[in-house]
Amino acid sequence: MKKFIFLSLICLFLPFLFTGCSKEKTTYSHYDISIEYNEEEHTADCKQTVTYVNNSNNAFEEIYFHLYPNAFREDSLNSLVSTANFDKAYPNGKSYGEINIQNVSCENKEIKFEISGEDSNILIVNLPETLYPNESVKIKIVYNLKLPNINHRFGYGENTVNFANFYPIACVYENGKGFVTDLYNSNGDPFYSDISNYEVSIRYNNKFILANTGNVEEYRDNGEIRVVYIKANKVRDFCFVLSEKFQIISEKVQDIKVNYYYYDDENPKLFLQTAVKAMKTFINEFGEYPYSQVSVVKSNFCYGGMEYPNIVLISDDLDKEEEYNYVIVHELAHQWWYGLVGNNQYENAWVDEGLTEYSTALFYEKNSEYGIKYNTIMENATSSYKYFVEVYNKVYPDFDTSMNRKINEFNTEPEYIYLTYTKGMLMFDALRDYLGKVKFEKCLRYYYNEFRYKNVSAEELVECFMKRSRVNLESFFKSWTSGKIVML
Ligand SMILES: [Zn+2]
Repeated sequence: MKKFIFLSLICLFLPFLFTGCSKEKTTYSHYDISIEYNEEEHTADCKQTVTYVNNSNNAFEEIYFHLYPNAFREDSLNSLVSTANFDKAYPNGKSYGEINIQNVSCENKEIKFEISGEDSNILIVNLPETLYPNESVKIKIVYNLKLPNINHRFGYGENTVNFANFYPIACVYENGKGFVTDLYNSNGDPFYSDISNYEVSIRYNNKFILANTGNVEEYRDNGEIRVVYIKANKVRDFCFVLSEKFQIISEKVQDIKVNYYYYDDENPKLFLQTAVKAMKTFINEFGEYPYSQVSVVKSNFCYGGMEYPNIVLISDDLDKEEEYNYVIVHELAHQWWYGLVGNNQYENAWVDEGLTEYSTALFYEKNSEYGIKYNTIMENATSSYKYFVEVYNKVYPDFDTSMNRKINEFNTEPEYIYLTYTKGMLMFDALRDYLGKVKFEKCLRYYYNEFRYKNVSAEELVECFMKRSRVNLESFFKSWTSGKIVML
């Protein structure tokens, strides 16, 4: 597109001698979690056995886990929501939650652990024996959870109880860097995890209806209490939502059951259709969806929507049909860009958010019945981005428009959104213009295929697109991610 100025754009056809851009094959860790939810106290008693596999090149004396629920503590360093979202998040005033680790054991012997991190956000487990590469260790963690009254990932609201990022999840270990232990942040989705296998049992009052990652294999019900047994293989997180009000409609796309969980909807079929069309579009454009179900779940959530493997939360606060559809499509695109192809969302959020926002525009291009034109999305994004930069430049001279920043390095929520989502989307649109549609689409499918079930770095994304297109894109990506590519 002529509107964009590419700095030092070099187009070289190179032989690309390297053999591949993906990482080595790994063995997955296994989480076995049992949860008993007490709805009167809004607490849960949990037992978790993690069979942790050391896929690194290093030997470990300790393993690190994130304790995300501690971001919801009263004395937490981070606010959970921006000031603008405070009332939406806390309709009944401030409320707090947390995770309490009771004990950690290995082969029935208690072992030492430490609650660490700047904000009690990390559990360090001291291993009884050194864990060498390719070895595994079974660690049992007993803990309880207190859920806050908040319309957020972890908490209960008027309509739903959201259990997301609720359990100790192993920090990703990067060779040369160690365990990645970044703090929770109110901007974006500050998460980073490895693909793992899960077996989860949840015990709850059977007045609730459950939406979850994975598949319910079996359940027991005594008329009052229900216990469900869930298996979820090759997913990077586990989430579930309970509600007394849920109704469910479903439709199959190939062998995948697409579910819509809702309450108070006048025409739920409309939104189920959007979900079905989104799944069909993305399977067609990027590649297969290797799970048997995906659930779009209306819920108490203050930020539009949120993605987890096999389940996406859609805020019941969105009242415009167009906006609701847009969020469904965006969150389902994350099943590919986050769910299957993972990345460090704290360090380079544009890798998944930019591509997901671009994928949402692609959905509208392929589904013209929605009356939203791809070109209009890009034109509107360009003008609103330019306006944003113009305003920010007045307030902050030499305002930084680079995208390659950690979530906590963005000064405000709008800055994070415009630079990660909007500029990220415009970058992928410009790349499509530059490479041509056919080549660009081949790159996307190749990228998906190479990195699904893995984590990709920003550098690996660039390398992968270069390898498939046989075009040197280093300057292209650098000028967008580090520079001021969308000019005033
Ligand atoms: Zn997103």
